[in-house]
Amino acid sequence: MVQLVPSPQQVMEILKRTGAYREGHFVYPSGKHTPHYFQMPLAFRYYDTARVLAVALSRKFRTEKEISSLLPKVAVISPSPGGIPVAFGVREALSAEQIYWAEREEGKRMFRQYVNQGEINPCIIVDDIVRSGDALRETLTIVRELGAKVVGCGTVVRFKSAPEMLDDVPIKSLVEFDAKWYENGDACSDCKENSPVEHVRF
Ligand SMILES: [Zn+2]
Repeated sequence: MVQLVPSPQQVMEILKRTGAYREGHFVYPSGKHTPHYFQMPLAFRYYDTARVLAVALSRKFRTEKEISSLLPKVAVISPSPGGIPVAFGVREALSAEQIYWAEREEGKRMFRQYVNQGEINPCIIVDDIVRSGDALRETLTIVRELGAKVVGCGTVVRFKSAPEMLDDVPIKSLVEFDAKWYENGDACSDCKENSPVEHVRF
């Protein structure tokens, strides 16, 4: 029996087990050091874990009256290709009608697919992880420019340093993560212990 809404601890166990969450000593291209690293698509390569996470996130939307009354005439939108597996899983779980995803191209977030003004249903924006909230905000802007209303927003993991709201829309999440990082090696406690460094990308 699949449990519909796993606890944050259970979600973190899934992320650890699949390698989507790792602890260690990591350096980002920006030069920042951090003791933890998320690579969320790793959790979405398995049918079972992808389904548990997507169904859990979809439940958070289905319990919203405004959203459930609109179904199936809802669009699920990912701010980037990384969020596509989440968007497909949530679309499937909600039987929502449409799916779209944006990409960053030459520094600007846009829909690669041709999208007509007014064709996007009222939408929910979903992502695998929200670190700063910038991708959600940029997506909100382009969706509104196309004449669609954003009725929901959610992510598997939200860093606590990210905003809790996207304008008047709350950002729902399965895990609220207390992210730590250091501006550089001098400030990093793992560097002080000479622990080996792994260079990673977002
Ligand atoms: Zn370090």
